[in-house]
Amino acid sequence: MTPEMNTAVKSGRAQQEKTSSDVILEVKDLKKHFPIKTGILQRTTGVIKAVDGAHFSVKRGETIGIVGESGCGKSTTGRTIIRLYEPTEGKIIYKGNDISHLKEKEMRSSIRRDIQMIFQDPFASLNPRKTLGSILYEPFKVHNLHSEKERQEKIESLLEIVGLDGSFKSRYPHEFSGGQRQRIGIARALTTQPELIIADEPVSALDVSIQAQIINLMEDLQEEFGLTYVFISHDLSVVRHIADTVGVMYLGNMMELAPKEDLYREPLHPYTRALLSAVPVPRQKGVKTREKVVLKGDLPSPSNPPSGCVFHTRCPEAMEECKKVVPAFEEKKSGHYVACHLYK
Ligand code: SF4
Repeated sequence: MTPEMNTAVKSGRAQQEKTSSDVILEVKDLKKHFPIKTGILQRTTGVIKAVDGAHFSVKRGETIGIVGESGCGKSTTGRTIIRLYEPTEGKIIYKGNDISHLKEKEMRSSIRRDIQMIFQDPFASLNPRKTLGSILYEPFKVHNLHSEKERQEKIESLLEIVGLDGSFKSRYPHEFSGGQRQRIGIARALTTQPELIIADEPVSALDVSIQAQIINLMEDLQEEFGLTYVFISHDLSVVRHIADTVGVMYLGNMMELAPKEDLYREPLHPYTRALLSAVPVPRQKGVKTREKVVLKGDLPSPSNPPSGCVFHTRCPEAMEECKKVVPAFEEKKSGHYVACHLYK
């Protein structure tokens, strides 16, 4: 990193005061429904409730992990926060301002630089016809950042920050391995000096050893630049490594939210318990291993979710009430929220 870059980034981000109440992002009862259109007239005949009640907040410089099976709405939640999708209901509060319905022009002028996204498949998100230099140049141009000379310097700095050689800027994405391509994706996300990064399954497509390298890189960058992450993953072991707080989603709903230690030590929601029971853990003398909970049935369709608690069709502890009454998402212990009738 050049000294100028170092100074600029650090003065902008890492040196900001962190206080315990410094919530940077708050998501309140967020919903994103997609209409189902059929026929020549494209009439709306139903809705897919991709996200139907997501709630969480994250403090500056921390990481929230959002976990759940494929199709649970976690990626849609991430994309709605960054406003790739217009929210159907609920609020997205960023730095105290409601950005849920900002117009694209306002988003571009005030938010797009601040919130960046890292995608699961770095190859698909990198234009194969462009060199790394032009891929990293583009955000500078879009946001009108820096002089021409500075842009070139910063491109090399960014590549070095993510562990690549600055001279790679004249190469194309296909010349790199999966792990290197994800490093390029991270470098691109850093071009605008963001404060918040939404990482959507950033290591799922990578080998386990490479996953660890990317996670370590993300942790180092967080430390250095004071970044905040929303880390979306289906993998509870990966999330355990990087997150401070973990939210568990099922069929578009946030089922449980807690500080990492609490959630992994004492999961309250039957769905979280089932997910955790499937995570392999090394045997430890004197420590009881978790009994494996096998969930019956398939994930119901978000276009026709079950009544009451959406998990009742698969819950090993379902009661009569669960079929009729939607459980409230409530704080049961300090900072530990759960939506389940077992804890009334
Ligand atoms: Fe299971 Fe009922 Fe709790 Fe839903 S509310 S998770 S069905 S016990």
